[in-house]
Amino acid sequence: MLITEMKQKEAILSHVSGKAFMIVCHGCKEVHFPEHEVEAFRKELAENGTLTGSITTDYICNEENLAVRLQNHMAAIESADVVLVFSCGVGVQTVAGKFPGKKVVACCDTYALPGFQGVTPLEYDCRQCGECYLNLTGGICPITACSKSLVNGQCGGAKNGMCEVDPNMECGWERIMRRLSQVGRLDALKCPVQVRNYATDDIVTKSK
Ligand code: SF4
Ligand code: SF4
Repeated sequence: MLITEMKQKEAILSHVSGKAFMIVCHGCKEVHFPEHEVEAFRKELAENGTLTGSITTDYICNEENLAVRLQNHMAAIESADVVLVFSCGVGVQTVAGKFPGKKVVACCDTYALPGFQGVTPLEYDCRQCGECYLNLTGGICPITACSKSLVNGQCGGAKNGMCEVDPNMECGWERIMRRLSQVGRLDALKCPVQVRNYATDDIVTKSK
């Protein structure tokens, strides 16, 4: 199981230029999704004319479900410059995978909790690290896509695009660079070095 916490509004808005479409997932009810806080933020963005549209739905981590839920919103999503996703890291990555040319913003941090995970795919690409990096990495999780969980770029050991730790796996940072290049966001990597807060990693599990 997991819990999600909305990122600081300022941090989310720093990724918004132009119009936004908002996807809110409250699929895992039992995990304290910050519904009221997110709804207040949605109203604020609607009132100041930022939104092309929004949807509140469930289980966007499931690709087939996501496609059905979004089918009446595609025009509004196409006309938006960014897609704001309020969900766990799996949901954000599922949306980013569906819209590879679009800027997709993770608006929540995800923390681990022990227990059953609902209908989230078993092979999910989020380790619920408590400090979501997807906004810096084009929607590809550096914690799970890189064998060393590096958050500041490639280790330099990749050969022909494959990971030096696991030669059968494509280097996660090559994937991240390719995605950022696709969406014209390589500048995202010019940010200061990310100092990872390991205190949030698995914090809930460890406190049990
Ligand atoms: S960075 Fe990766 S592991 Fe951490 S919350 Fe985001 S998707 Fe999950
Ligand atoms: S080769 Fe790539 S995926 Fe493998 S550890 Fe280095 S940066 Fe990470």
